[in-house]
Amino acid sequence: MTRDDYEVIIGLEVHSELSTKTKIFCSCPTTFGASPNTQVCPICMAMPGTLPVLNEKVIEYAVKAGLATNCTISKDSKNDRKNYFYPDLPKAYQISQYDKPLCEKGFVEIDTNNGKKKIRITRIHIEEDAGKLNHDDFGGGSLVDLNRAGVPLIEIVSEPDLRSTEEVESYLKKLKAILEYIEVSDCKMQEGSFRADVNVSVRKKGDPKLGTRTEMKNMNSFRSITRAIEYEIDRQIEILEEGNLVEQETLRWDDVSGKTFSMRDKEDAQDYRYFPDPDLAAIKLSDEYIENIRKNLPELPESRKQRYLEEYKLSEKDANIITASKYLSDLFENAIKVCNNPKAVSNWIISEISRILNETEMDPIEIPFDANQLGKLVILIDKGTISSSIGKKVLEELFENPRDPESIIKEKGWIQISDESEIKEIVTKILEANPQSIADYKAGKDRALGYLVGQAMKETKGKANPKMLNEMFLKELNG
Ligand code: ADP
Ligand code: ZN
Ligand code: MG
Repeated sequence: MTRDDYEVIIGLEVHSELSTKTKIFCSCPTTFGASPNTQVCPICMAMPGTLPVLNEKVIEYAVKAGLATNCTISKDSKNDRKNYFYPDLPKAYQISQYDKPLCEKGFVEIDTNNGKKKIRITRIHIEEDAGKLNHDDFGGGSLVDLNRAGVPLIEIVSEPDLRSTEEVESYLKKLKAILEYIEVSDCKMQEGSFRADVNVSVRKKGDPKLGTRTEMKNMNSFRSITRAIEYEIDRQIEILEEGNLVEQETLRWDDVSGKTFSMRDKEDAQDYRYFPDPDLAAIKLSDEYIENIRKNLPELPESRKQRYLEEYKLSEKDANIITASKYLSDLFENAIKVCNNPKAVSNWIISEISRILNETEMDPIEIPFDANQLGKLVILIDKGTISSSIGKKVLEELFENPRDPESIIKEKGWIQISDESEIKEIVTKILEANPQSIADYKAGKDRALGYLVGQAMKETKGKANPKMLNEMFLKELNG
């Protein structure tokens, strides 16, 4: 039997840090990157006798996320203690939600090779993040940083509806876009504010029963997620082909070796001894409260996409790429306000900007330049001040050290040569150096013209106006 005889089943638990100013049960700030243990207080350090107070914004943000993913919002929910010991969890329990999550039974629609597909969302619940352990390279051992302890999270659990790595990527991108659009999380994957536990199993095609799953925790890059799933599929099929059983366990993906390693046996809900947190009141929401949030939901990616198809006549594919990120989409709209050239702005985003983002694994939110600078770059090309090949170099500068595009081209001497006599001088020089091309052209080989233009561009390091070069060569060759 081969891989084609198996079906892959994937379900995701996505953790997303909410961008509230303060933590979920105390008023410590949530900003990322502060010195260790400077954003802590007796509550999030779990001092005996302290009491948690639920941050109302957390409820609001979680309800927003639930509504934007078509969930039913529970008017009657509560917080539970999930008991386990780990050094980054000083209370020895995490306040989470067990049997009464805030949101249930939603779905997200994704695009697949075979059209649209609904991925069902089982539940969305609120919980607190744990602290962080840092390995001490000098003294040995680990150091605990509790700045992250008590940062609010939502956990979005999907049904096992995903069937391939493409679908996983599409689902994660859609979910990330939705959370960005409704402004409940900045979803910075590199900072861990959008991360996924990936559950994978395989079964023989046609088998009605799900196979045993393994789980890889806290994955925060699309590339590793895809690699890890591919690896896990092959590993599980090999085990089954040898007549053995896949063990249900928690695995760790190692990006360097490209393999998964066993971390621990999978724990069941009963291992956590869940019980309602006696320090917190039940969460009761009114219909008005929920309806009010629903009414004020901002524009979602799907509707922006439709608007781009109609207003700017973008292709479906291009509109998908741009609206997949709120930051790209805002960049697009704001740059158009500057240069009034939607086609050009979308081309820059889809080709060069996307290429650089991919190569550097940069998240759109981390793009260092602003819409005004992108808009001005487009204007410089539209006016013929620079060629589009110089434009690419300006864009690279914008990524490296963002500043006004006009200053960049002045500083670098990249202004396009559009002076007729200068163009003529270059053309004459190139023709003198390439008599064979002249002969070829006269013999009817049109390609010679392209070659000559190419030589002239090389000579001027891409600065000559290509249209003028072309015309001048034609004039000289034919005249
Ligand atoms: P736990 O917290 O114990 O991992 P959850 O119910 O929170 O349990 O999450 C289970 C996740 O695993 C869900 O996303 C679900 O879709 C997925 N899942 C369940 N069974 C399978 C399976 N056989 N194969 C792949 N994924 C599965
Ligand atoms: Zn605190
Ligand atoms: Mg899990």
